[in-house]
Amino acid sequence: MGGGRVSPTLPTMASHMRILVVEDDDRVARGLVTALRSASFDVQRVATAERALTAAPADVVLLDLGLPDADGIDLLRRLRRRPQTAIIAVTARSEERDRVRGLRAGADDYVVKPFGVAELLARIDAVLRRTRPARAEPEAEDPPLSVGDLVIDVNSREARLADTALQLTRKEFDLLRLLVARSPNVVARDQILDQVWGAAWEASSRTLDTHIASLRNKVGTAVQIRTVRGVGYVLDGG
Ligand code: CA
Repeated sequence: MGGGRVSPTLPTMASHMRILVVEDDDRVARGLVTALRSASFDVQRVATAERALTAAPADVVLLDLGLPDADGIDLLRRLRRRPQTAIIAVTARSEERDRVRGLRAGADDYVVKPFGVAELLARIDAVLRRTRPARAEPEAEDPPLSVGDLVIDVNSREARLADTALQLTRKEFDLLRLLVARSPNVVARDQILDQVWGAAWEASSRTLDTHIASLRNKVGTAVQIRTVRGVGYVLDGG
């Protein structure tokens, strides 16, 4: 996939990527399946939680949290156990509580109904880039990430703040990179633990607090790592 940058509305690796659409509303599902197939994804749609759990493994699950036969959050947790699957939760606009619960339960992202196809494709592209960097662009150098004066070179694993290199530990770098990549979005605690510390994170919630405190010291006031109570953290530009 050496060719240049692709328009942000077009997933870079749509072909060969499998998407499972879990949606009980036939009309909504039809629209989604058509749009995703037009974008060259390999799409399977199911209408119930039971079918979602027995469906073939997918790269991305688009999960409607309002299903008739199960609690959407419970289903999300069960699907989350498959490490290679990214999950985008779909909620109705009124269900703020579900969005927060969805992120805490490990959704990689969420969209709120009604959403446009371009937004959905951009979010799918973003979660695929995050969860499968190797498959998304095997030969390309990743471009630097930045928020304000903070620049992260993911290839050399260097973080610079207005031309001064930050002295970060490996985990601090991984944590900062994740926050910068997701900014201005909130990253859920569970997701940080999952992506930075991996599977054995149960005991390390306090470790995350320690690393956040240390990072705050190192980045000073140029950018702000803000706590979103009950959810996680968000990196704000200076
Ligand atoms: Ca529904």
